[in-house]
Amino acid sequence: MVSEGQQLHVMFLPYMAPGHMMPMVDIARLFAANGVRVTIIVTAFNARRFQDVIDRDIRSGREIAIHTLHFPYAEAGLPEGCENLSSTPTPEMSIKLFHAIDLLQPQIEGFFREYHPNCIVSDYLFPWTVKVATELGIPRLAFSGSGFFNLCVSHNIDLYKPHENIESETQDIYRSRPARPKAERNSFGVLMNSFYELEPTYVDHHRKHTGIKTWCLGPVSLYNGDTEDKAERGDKTSVCKHSCLSWLDSRKPNSVLYICFGSLARFSKTQVTEIASALEASGHSFIWVVGKVLNADNDDQQEESWLPDNFEERITKNDQGLIIRGWAPQVLLLEHPAIGGFLTHCGWNSILEGVSAGVPMVTWPIFAEQFYNEKLITQVLKIGVPVGNETWKIWATQDSPLIDRNKIKNAVSAVMGSEDVAEDMRERVNQLSKMAKKAAEVGGSSSNDLTALIKDIKMYKET
Ligand code: UDP
Repeated sequence: MVSEGQQLHVMFLPYMAPGHMMPMVDIARLFAANGVRVTIIVTAFNARRFQDVIDRDIRSGREIAIHTLHFPYAEAGLPEGCENLSSTPTPEMSIKLFHAIDLLQPQIEGFFREYHPNCIVSDYLFPWTVKVATELGIPRLAFSGSGFFNLCVSHNIDLYKPHENIESETQDIYRSRPARPKAERNSFGVLMNSFYELEPTYVDHHRKHTGIKTWCLGPVSLYNGDTEDKAERGDKTSVCKHSCLSWLDSRKPNSVLYICFGSLARFSKTQVTEIASALEASGHSFIWVVGKVLNADNDDQQEESWLPDNFEERITKNDQGLIIRGWAPQVLLLEHPAIGGFLTHCGWNSILEGVSAGVPMVTWPIFAEQFYNEKLITQVLKIGVPVGNETWKIWATQDSPLIDRNKIKNAVSAVMGSEDVAEDMRERVNQLSKMAKKAAEVGGSSSNDLTALIKDIKMYKET
């Protein structure tokens, strides 16, 4: 029971993938900044990704703690330290990781029972938290890693089942993905990393037709106020932020393309070569965050041999671009005025970060709900141009269909050029960026939703 004036204790349980963990840590920090006592439950290696940021919050007087779990490597047959989907080198290892995550359930349930928080905020991928919250008589909130457009599309596909009559492989995005858990219906509600003004029609539609309560809290990356928070968001960066920023300072506004395919996507070497050739031929400056690349055994690796001959020497000599191997300070870079375009895999976090920074996008969805997100960007908001990928594939193989260099170059030119179409996209995304910042400010729509949410949690027991 939380009486008036008594401090709430909320526990956050993020899923072990950067695109899930990062926004949830942002939300946990936001709760703590609003006077709530917060505990984030994660495994030890994952905790290292944001320990420094939390320590800074603690030093500034916030009541926020990390509870670390023992990760069952040995039982699951994983090497020590392999605790996150971004660090599994093969699809088989990802399956072992899912198994290890399942094994955590009794440990986490025991922790909830022992410390009996006032509310559990759980990634939607942990549907079993509904039961333990019900048992404890506390609200369970699901965190949805995506936006309303995706939820509406998924809801309507469930309802009207258009996929049952499809004929072509590339139309078959839905059939190949797992059904979303239905635990949201049995929860107190769903926390969304979105803001009302971005997708008002879909927020309203979802609220009216699903009966699921939602709060828009985003874009949550905007709550990383200072440079240090931005630079360290999600992990330690693999580059010197000062040298990246000073390179960007030397560029004209809106002249640099930023390329990053999120934390999980893998490309074949041939695809990476096509990207490199397209970038070089485009003549535009760029920062390219190269993720992991598959070798001949479909095992991923980070090495230099995937680059076309002398590619890196040429782009360095011409001062055309920077290559980042490993973790990039994405939010910090996107916000730089020199960044004028974002070649993205359409992960929901990346999209919100691009919108917040006012950067038009070249869209290259790969898996999950990224193909729906692409439609929102290119057809609804009209702030991006597609490269034309139609193949949903979670883990590339050497025989994955290629997007050739001309397609990539044409889409890049359409976004980075000075034609009216590009200027119109830039104008629209700049307006959205202003709305995003306003939504997150005190008195804005997302800030008001947060205040209402904290009040709703306090009221839960009293009604
Ligand atoms: N990210 C980053 N540096 C990197 C790669 C990714 O900061 O080098 C962040 C990015 O800013 C975003 C998240 O990782 O917040 C990726 O989430 P998203 O939903 O875009 O894609 P996912 O990784 O889940 O496919």
